Order: sequence, then C-alpha cells, then structure tokens
Amino acid sequence: MKLESQPGHIDQIKQTNAGVVYRLIDLYGPISRIELSRLAQLAPASITKIVREMLDAHLVQETEFQEPGSRGRPAIGLILDTLAWHYLAVRLHHGALTLTLRDLSSRALVEETSPLPDEAQQPLLTSLIDRVDAFFMRHQRKLERLTAIAITLPGLINAASGVVHRLPGYQVQDMPLGDTLAQRTGVPVFVQHDISAWTLAESLFGASRGAQDVIQIVIDDTVGAGVISGGQLLHKSGRALVEIGHTQIDPYGQQCYCGNHGCLETVASTGSLLALAAQRLATQPDSVLHQQPLTLESLCLAARQGDRLARDAIAGVGHHVGRMLAMMVNIFNPQHILIGSPLNQAAEVLFPAVSSTIRQQALPAYSESIQLAPTEFHEPGTLGAAALIKDALYSGYLLVKLLQG
Ligand SMILES: [Zn+2]
Repeated sequence: MKLESQPGHIDQIKQTNAGVVYRLIDLYGPISRIELSRLAQLAPASITKIVREMLDAHLVQETEFQEPGSRGRPAIGLILDTLAWHYLAVRLHHGALTLTLRDLSSRALVEETSPLPDEAQQPLLTSLIDRVDAFFMRHQRKLERLTAIAITLPGLINAASGVVHRLPGYQVQDMPLGDTLAQRTGVPVFVQHDISAWTLAESLFGASRGAQDVIQIVIDDTVGAGVISGGQLLHKSGRALVEIGHTQIDPYGQQCYCGNHGCLETVASTGSLLALAAQRLATQPDSVLHQQPLTLESLCLAARQGDRLARDAIAGVGHHVGRMLAMMVNIFNPQHILIGSPLNQAAEVLFPAVSSTIRQQALPAYSESIQLAPTEFHEPGTLGAAALIKDALYSGYLLVKLLQG
C-alpha cells in the first residue's frame, strides 16, 4: 500500500478535504458554505477554515447570488478565482513541442509550437530546458504566479518519478525530466503518457465528462488506450500503461517492432492501414484511390463516398479494434467507449464495424448499453497537460502546495 493513500494521516486528510471542497466549488459554484458543508460531508467549521485559506491564497472568491428557490436577499456564494495563478502545459508529439501558458480555468493565454528535432550534438533534456527558459523569458510580463508545469509525451514513462525511459524518435534513455525541470523552476512538475493524459482530458473537459467507467482507444501511428475505472485513471502513477497495441491478434502475422508477431498495432495502426490499402490497390483497378495520392484523408473520403477498397480496409481496422475492446468491455464494463483517431473522418464506416464486433464478442448485458462516440478533442494539444493540473488540484496535492504559498 502506498503511503499517500493511508487513511488517518492528518496532512493527507487536510489535502483530501481541500481537494474535495475545491472540486465542489468548481462544479457547483456559486455555492454557499452551508451547501458545501452538506455536499462535502464536512463540519461547517472545517469548511469555514478551508475556505478562508483558499480566499487568502486567491484560489476562490466570494460573489453574491440568488439561491435556487429563494426570493430573499442574495446569498454569499463561492466561485473559483482562476486568474491569479498560471501554469505551463507542454506536449511533445510527432516531433514538435507545444508550450501553452494557461490560467487555472485551463484557458490558454499564450501558445507556441515549434519543431523539436533529435539532434546528436545536444541531449533532448538540454533542448527542452532551453526552450522552456526561452518561453518564460519571452512572456515574463504575462507570468503572474507560476504554479506548476505539466508535460505529456509518448513512449515509456514513469509518471510517479517523472523519468522518461524511452521516447519514440529520440535517443533517450532514462531521462530525469520531472526532477530536472522541478529543480530548475522550483515548481512541481507532472509528467504523464500522452494517451493517459488525453483520457483524463476527455473525462474532465470532453466527451466522457462525469462518467465513472470509460475506455478510450486511440488509433493513430500507434494504438493505445486509457481506462477510467470507478472515476480513477488506471495506472495513474508508475510505469504501467494499458498496452493493448502489443497484444497478439494474429499469431501468423507480421513481426512487430516490440519483437512479437501479429500485434494489434501491426494490423490497426494508421501506418499498417495505409500499407494494406496500397497492397490491395494492385488487385482492385476500379478503386477511386488510383486517381490520387494515398493518404489517410483520401482513404477516409473514398470510404465515405462508398469506395469498396477503402470501406473494407477501414472496417477491417474496426473489427480488429472491436475484438480487443470486447475483451476490455468484459473486464471493465464501461458506460462509454471513446475513439480518438484520424479515422474518425470515416466514422460512419469505422464505428459500426467496432460496435458490431463488440456486440458479437462481449457479454450482451455489458455491451448493449455502451455508448460508442468520438473523442471531443480531435487533436488534444496541451489539454492533456491541463487535465493533469486539474486532477492535481482536485486530489488536493497541488492545492496544498499553493495554500502553503
Ligand atoms: Zn508489438
């Protein structure tokens, strides 16, 4: 059992309670102290104390409001004060670095994206720190009070220690990203896998908002998933991921870069889909794809226009992914399944293939009520990093650091 989850520790209780109160004000504000006390199941004296500290730290503010059903004098309610604190949200994705300065409402104040090539002469860690430093220098006047930095990236990451063990496209081995940036800037640094953070972003700001049990699958140049079970992101800390991309689908299939054969990624990634479509073009002379360059966009458009080759290829991805999802449905019994993919451009082909396979292969009692939907964010950008910050405020972890000043 981890120390942080041991009940009875007084600092831990204070942290949890502060997080609960902050979350309730975010969700229901303006809200009175009495209503807060009822919803948080905390004594009015405790609410008064927590709220006073948050008012002093410019994390909440008072406002007059009319309570529902009341015709009397306006009551004093609490809402979040999100303007006083800023944080930096960072995403490394497809060889580009995006830096976004946001306030605590998650609103973007400044955003810059630039290519970040793998350079032999300079280690990636040095490049990253230089870019963050330069960003802060350029926007010094907008930097109110920096609370934290959150970074999302693909690869093999230990979210608890902030170490990036491997990063696709870069010569990286055990890069201590979290600690180095924290020492440099003096603020807490959160590091998380891109897909896990996107899953959290959809649950806090997007298509699975408020849902307790969610599977989010991402079909891109890699295939991965994030799971929310009982309202909590699975494998939130540590090195583990929901590694569905490297589950064997076809024992006689192609060799995968992980060393195994016939992984889901070898039949369902966008790269493998394009390779399959190119191969089939040779035997299907009537396809409209002969008249244009073969890209994901042209393939999805052709599928929407009824081209047989394009429809079959995309439906094939849907069936493969559906088989994997059917197993996951039987384990997690989700309310929502979200798909984040450039193939959502051909959702009318992809989604029925996925859902019919789930219905055929999962327990009917579990599969019949599932809602399959696209992710709200087609391209999440640094919203994944924003979700890490919101999650750290809701858990109380980051909040307590801000209250301590
Ligand atoms: Zn593999």
